[in-house]
Amino acid sequence: MNKPLDSHDQDAPIFAPDAFRLTDAQAELIAKARRFGKAKLAPRAALHDREATFPIENFRDMHPEGLLKICIPKEDGGLGADFQTYCLTAAELGRYCGATALSWNMHVCSTLWSGPLSDDLDMTPEDRKAHIARRRVHYKRIIDDGAIYAQPFSEGGAAAAGAVAFGTEAKPVDGGLVINGKKIFASLSGSADYYGVLCTERAEGEAASRRNTLYLGVPANAPGVSVVGEWDPLGMRGTVSRTLIFKDVFVPEDAMLMPHGVYFQAASKWPHMFMTLTPTYMGLAQAAYDFTVSYLRGELPGMPPVKRRMYPTKQIAVAEMRIMLEQTKALWFQAVTEARANPTKEQVLRAYAAQHTVMENANAIAVKAIRTCGGQSMLKSLPLERIYRDSRCGALMLPWTSEICVDRIGRESLYEPGEKDE
Ligand SMILES: Cc1cc2nc3c(=O)[nH]c(=O)nc-3n(C[C@H](O)[C@H](O)[C@H](O)COP(=O)(O)OP(=O)(O)OC[C@H]3O[C@@H](n4cnc5c(N)ncnc54)[C@H](O)[C@@H]3O)c2cc1C
Repeated sequence: MNKPLDSHDQDAPIFAPDAFRLTDAQAELIAKARRFGKAKLAPRAALHDREATFPIENFRDMHPEGLLKICIPKEDGGLGADFQTYCLTAAELGRYCGATALSWNMHVCSTLWSGPLSDDLDMTPEDRKAHIARRRVHYKRIIDDGAIYAQPFSEGGAAAAGAVAFGTEAKPVDGGLVINGKKIFASLSGSADYYGVLCTERAEGEAASRRNTLYLGVPANAPGVSVVGEWDPLGMRGTVSRTLIFKDVFVPEDAMLMPHGVYFQAASKWPHMFMTLTPTYMGLAQAAYDFTVSYLRGELPGMPPVKRRMYPTKQIAVAEMRIMLEQTKALWFQAVTEARANPTKEQVLRAYAAQHTVMENANAIAVKAIRTCGGQSMLKSLPLERIYRDSRCGALMLPWTSEICVDRIGRESLYEPGEKDE
């Protein structure tokens, strides 16, 4: 049923297809994401947040909707979504359940990075042929069985920021590789069927190098894989990002999600690949704004119809939130639209600025929403306090934390590559 015209529509598209010139296929996908988010994610979000449990049923429900295969190329049986289409769809899911959208991102990246992104990178014809054959095996598991992939790369040292080689290592042996190491903050730990692990390929006596980073799809039930530690964080509690241990885990060569050397190439030639954590927070920013408008209009479901919109201070606060939201949307949309291989320096600086803006502004808007709506809005019976806590986590996400974005924007604006001061 359509909403009456005189109420605020909390489910209107974040990026209206006509205003942002989306294709029909994009408009359809974002509409599906909103329907799905409202029907499936929103009603389950509070319980998983409270209990810090993984919303596995959301992922089971994504399978028949085709959402698990969104970025799998069409010729391999997927929906063939490109980077921008994925980002727009993920933002819509993020407004209903941040933890699901963030975990879904980890899964989708295993297909986006091995699919459309890898297609833009250099490979020998033999490597490309072997890669296409190997990734089909991964894709088939997702398409046929609803397999879920996680994306653990953080280790607690400098590797996840891209400063040094990963400490998790894969040693070449007959027929495959043996993995040893530890990953922290592994979203979907204990629930994923495969872990898309970034590690350093290193033969006996060889020095560790970032150039030898390997991206491997490791079965969760492989001997030597274990999940340890607690998960009781401030926000994004439904991601269940516990610690993973790999102890002499053998995987065959087929486990490679990218050929040798291609992850290193991707990280330098396709830098927007690290922006994929932002859509969730774009969605949270929109959700905090929508909540505030509905709340002040006295239209929030489950709340008495008390209006608070007549106070000038509320109107000013909403104006400030709207300005911040529009600024965030405009910059983010531009940055995700120009994601490509070999972007210009301007495009990379804009991507850092967009990442910083979304991650900081999502939380700033949520903070203002709580102050503006007042005491009742922070009750756990309403979604705003969860949005507030979840939005706090965005700026901490490596490799592009807010601090690292600021570092790079400053340095790269003032220095051309290779330039030094006397
Ligand atoms: C809810 C949630 C889910 C997550 N899910 C995943 C996941 O699925 N997979 C995954 O791999 N990771 C995941 N992470 C981890 C995340 O990406 C970061 O790796 C983690 O938050 C880093 O924590 P840390 O304290 O070890 O950071 P540290 O490396 O100790 O960094 C602390 C701060 O120092 C600064 N800093 C670090 N390195 C540099 C540098 N080289 N230059 C300048 N400043 C620097 C950064 O601002 C950073 O915020 C998740 C995190 C959260 C909160």
